[in-house]
Amino acid sequence: MCPFCKSEDTRVIDSRFVRDQQTIRRRRCCNACQQRFTTYERVERVLPVVIKRDGNRESFDIAKIRAGVQHACHKRTVPAAVIDDLLQRIERHFADASEREVESAVIGDHVLRQLRDIDPVAYVRFASVYRDFSDVGQFVTELRTLHADDGADEPDGDAVP
Ligand SMILES: [Zn+2]
Repeated sequence: MCPFCKSEDTRVIDSRFVRDQQTIRRRRCCNACQQRFTTYERVERVLPVVIKRDGNRESFDIAKIRAGVQHACHKRTVPAAVIDDLLQRIERHFADASEREVESAVIGDHVLRQLRDIDPVAYVRFASVYRDFSDVGQFVTELRTLHADDGADEPDGDAVP
């Protein structure tokens, strides 16, 4: 609504995200009185319900994912900004997916794919928790794949839980 003449007939001239993609700043022009003004609109993200491994549902909790990622990155040289970025990408991905429900394993895989490019040790740690390897062989295979991909940067001894 135009703050000058109260007309609802306004148009957007320019939009941009501010503050970590959570707020959109819009430059608007009133079609009735031609005055220009700025609005700040909070982005409402509708996130899917998470289906846990045991079949129970819970709400999508980015804080929980953050805790898992931070745990995986413990004592690694992953900058906080990189973790923030990753979490934002995850949240946006699932908000944009428009699925009403998502399995927790799908979220875990998504985090994993991104962690893999960030830090190999954090990747393995996260994998060991989230993917819940059904047997040791599977875990070793995963480690080998990792080594084959990234021979120059060997995970240190504390990569294996
Ligand atoms: Zn107006």
